[in-house]
Amino acid sequence: MLYNIDMNLLSEVTEIQGVGPKTATALNKYGFYTIKDLIYYFPRSYEDYKKTTKISDLTPGKVIIRGKIRNLKTQYTRRRNFNITTGEVYDETGAVKAIWYNQPYRSKTFKENQTYFFTGNFDFKYNHYQLTSPTTVLADDIYETDHENSGFQPIYPAKGSYKSIWFKRMFQNLRNEIAIVPDLLPIVKPGLRADALFNIHFPDSFDDVEKAKEYLAYEEIFELILASRLNKNENSKLRAEPLKFNAKNTKELVNALPFQLTNAQRLAAWDILKDLEKATPMNRLLQGDVGSGKTVVSALAIYQCFKAGKQSALLAPTAILATQHAKTLKNLLGPLGVKVELLIGATKKKDDLKARIKSGEIDVVVGTHAIITDDTVFSDLAFAIIDEQHRFGVMQRQKLLLKTGDKTTAPHLLAMTATPIPRSLQLTIFGDLSVSTISELPKGRTPIKTKILNETEMKEQLYPVLNQKMKDKEQIYWICKLIEETGRSEASNVKKEADKLKMKFPKAKIEFLHGKMKTDEKDEIMNRFKDGKIDILVSTTVVEVGVDVPNATQIVIMDAESFGLAQLHQLRGRVGRGTKPSNCFLITSGDTPPSQRLSELEKSTNGFYLAEVDLKLRGPGEIYGQLQHGVMNLKIASLTDTKTISKAQKDVEVFLQNPDNMIKCKELMSEIKKYQQLTTLN
Ligand code: ADP
Ligand code: MG
Repeated sequence: MLYNIDMNLLSEVTEIQGVGPKTATALNKYGFYTIKDLIYYFPRSYEDYKKTTKISDLTPGKVIIRGKIRNLKTQYTRRRNFNITTGEVYDETGAVKAIWYNQPYRSKTFKENQTYFFTGNFDFKYNHYQLTSPTTVLADDIYETDHENSGFQPIYPAKGSYKSIWFKRMFQNLRNEIAIVPDLLPIVKPGLRADALFNIHFPDSFDDVEKAKEYLAYEEIFELILASRLNKNENSKLRAEPLKFNAKNTKELVNALPFQLTNAQRLAAWDILKDLEKATPMNRLLQGDVGSGKTVVSALAIYQCFKAGKQSALLAPTAILATQHAKTLKNLLGPLGVKVELLIGATKKKDDLKARIKSGEIDVVVGTHAIITDDTVFSDLAFAIIDEQHRFGVMQRQKLLLKTGDKTTAPHLLAMTATPIPRSLQLTIFGDLSVSTISELPKGRTPIKTKILNETEMKEQLYPVLNQKMKDKEQIYWICKLIEETGRSEASNVKKEADKLKMKFPKAKIEFLHGKMKTDEKDEIMNRFKDGKIDILVSTTVVEVGVDVPNATQIVIMDAESFGLAQLHQLRGRVGRGTKPSNCFLITSGDTPPSQRLSELEKSTNGFYLAEVDLKLRGPGEIYGQLQHGVMNLKIASLTDTKTISKAQKDVEVFLQNPDNMIKCKELMSEIKKYQQLTTLN
């Protein structure tokens, strides 16, 4: 029946003929629980066995012969140290010699009088025609289609001991069910889904496959978009504290800034300040390239919240960054009467601070997840900011939402990131987010020059530059991959690296920093670096995000190939934060040419462009998937397929206009639950 859930699809795999409890347990391990899980397991490729050639019609080139084999022989040639297996492939029109090199098992695996498909090259060699190293498939292993000559065959990716042929046979048993799979989406032509699923498993041609994929990609994208739209609706049912905008207050802070806001900062701030006025919680992403000045925009929003008499919280991914933010906000907002405090693991007299947060004495709490994991209670939290949001998971966000102490109220939420979400993802998975983009850097910045050097080029091209920069009193980051020597790994280690550098730059003040150090120690070193008391800071990626030392103009990244594109871009963003020209040196070991990742980074400093490149090179599963339990592995759809995306978007709107759809489409609604988790801002 149309639009209705068909219980068969969601029944367990044991309902399939030939799948017993033992097989079921094995299948469960691979994530196949229901019949539907299996039906949505698609072939990796296809082979067209219909294009067989009769032996009498053979011409040189790739051929498929449907025939039998006789006169199998394996000979060892001592002179060439070779096994040669030969046989005679024949059909009703003639015979041809087949030959395999070093595959002696061939002569044993064939059965006489069985029909096989032989796929290989038919060539003139050593004075006669032969079929060279053909691959073979037993004709019985290919289920018979309506066509006499077998046909167009799917090839499934193997799962452990379950090979392609196992899947083929299993689907053969499900053939009738697949042909009548009920519709999933009420807004497409009835039967389209069943046709697509049938054609992806039992196609007659590549055309069939293409048509099937078109629908199935659409279905996936539709589900993603619907999930994110439903999240948006749910969010809009929550209540939030409206925080009034007051032009006079905002001007007061803007006038106190040591610089003029860029136009892009103004526009982004405006979006946010308007959102804060609403009685539904803001769910906004502020994306701006590294150094574009997101912090000050968040300060404007915090000030509006303060003036409305409510508390705000700012979450940062590292203690170093939290410490820096607390300092910045104290400088900016302290003089206007705002009480800002830092809460991290290393904070002393925590109980006392927490009591002051609970009583409402503290206006702004800046910290790491200590804010949410500990028993921190707010008196009236109305606004939360998550800096570098890609580092936070769903759970943390949920906990933050609970901080208002009332399930129907949520704080306004602002996430800030320098790893922009490509447009196509904004429309699909992150469709429930409002997005503001700071698209320009403050004036007077000179672009960062990036150069890839191998270790031998370092001497001539790197050391002289660094010596000169240190003479000019500019500072250097030196980034290494690992803290400790890990056995055979060649990755550099900070301590050793610092010692080496001390030999090369005897006059320089060199210190090192890594994640396992105590927070106090880290802070102390960071502060001295900020104050210009350290020339070269050798560090792991603990300085990756957010750290702002405008006088540091040079960054050297060792083992650059071992970092991802987004991470390298973030690291590079530690320099180029002042008016002096900056350099980023990507050091590669070995002589292999640099990867596309590094070349793209050398060419561009545009984070938005690089995010698109990253999406193409790695796919969304890699970038956003690890953080989101790998749900993001789309089977067929491509998130760069803008045509399908915009069609699905329109259709989702149509779907939502009729509330009955949600009640009718039970299977669809249960399907999109798994997507819903990941589409919320996290
Ligand atoms: P990010 O967007 O990477 O978080 P920050 O907020 O850390 O960037 O800002 C980078 C630097 O730029 C800081 O030193 C900040 O004081 C400075 N800055 C921010 N906005 C402006 C501006 N409009 N003009 C000049 N400098 C600015
Ligand atoms: Mg920042």
